Order: sequence, then C-alpha cells, then structure tokens
Amino acid sequence: MSRARRRADRIRAEIPIQRVLSDYGYEVDGGYDGEQQFSCDLHGDGVDIKPSARVYPDSGSWYCFSCDATRDAIQTVRDKEGIEFFPALRKIEERYRLPTMPFEEGDYDTTKGAAHGASKEVAGLLDPSKTFEDDQKRAHTLLDGVTVDKDLPMLDTLKLWEAFDKICFVVRKETLSEANGRIALAKIRKRTIEKIKESARE
Ligand SMILES: [Zn+2]
Repeated sequence: MSRARRRADRIRAEIPIQRVLSDYGYEVDGGYDGEQQFSCDLHGDGVDIKPSARVYPDSGSWYCFSCDATRDAIQTVRDKEGIEFFPALRKIEERYRLPTMPFEEGDYDTTKGAAHGASKEVAGLLDPSKTFEDDQKRAHTLLDGVTVDKDLPMLDTLKLWEAFDKICFVVRKETLSEANGRIALAKIRKRTIEKIKESARE
C-alpha cells in the first residue's frame, strides 16, 4: 500500500467526517455519530435553503443530492479550499495534528515508476550513509560553483537550477520520497559533470 493511501486511510479512520464539516461551519454536531441533514454550499450559488446534504459518519462521508456527489474528508477539504489531493492531505494532518506518517521500505519502489532503472544509472553516486539534505547541499554547492565559474552556457546552468528547485519542491511537498529525490539529485550532478566535460572538450 502506498504511503499516500496510508495517509488517506488514517484520516478516514481518525478524523470523524462530522467534525470536519462542523469545523468548516456546516450546521452539524461534530460530536454526534448519527446521520444528520444539513445545508451544502458547494452547488449553485452556495445557498441551500432546503438542506440537500446528509452526513453518514459510519462511512466517513456525506452525500449532497443537489451536487449529486459523495465526499469524504479529503474531498471536502479539496472542494472547500480548491486544492489538490496532496495539499489536502497535508492540510488535514496539520489541522488535526496527525504526526508525520513514516515512510516504509516499499514506498521507495512505488512512488515513481522510473526510479528503479534510474537508481542503477546513478548507483555509484548515492552514498547510503548520507541523507536527502546532504545530497541537496552537495548538488547546491556544485551548481553554485558552475554558476560562479561560468563553466556552462547560462541557459544550461539555469536549466540545471530549475531541475534542482523542482526536485526540492516536490520532496518538500511529499509528492516525491526523499529516496527518489536523492536519485533525481544524483542524476543532476551526473548531468552537470558530463556537461562540464563536454564543454571543456569543445
Ligand atoms: Zn451540494
């Protein structure tokens, strides 16, 4: 099971849907675990005089007859905040103070399909005693040097920085595991060094 799935399952198991709704100001009793009818603001002009929605705490979801949609806690947050799946997970975990879900062995293989082939390509560049942060510093130092010394054409340098920033961003947002982030950073280091060699030959 993927880490994202485990995070979603934990939210469904630990955060009552009626609590999520009442925290958004919906007229439901957040502490009551029976079904309740309430007004939904997610359809039409947001006014729902004859309450169209009903919460089903047993299934951790609610259904709105006017939206014709079933929503769990995550979908509710996505629709209320206009955000994607991962930011919604993060928001709920912060709001209800769920501790960071640890990574498991299998997560590294499944988060990004290409990672396995790529890891062979850069195997020699990955030091198992180092962390993602170490590799981040290392790649940053390398790119800094390239930029200062003008080893490469500016456009190539900028592309490498852009790739570096993107990896740091997705790892920070947890859409990429640190292990796969390390592989991606190692590829950038490899590409940078290859490009320096190429341009030195020219
Ligand atoms: Zn609705």
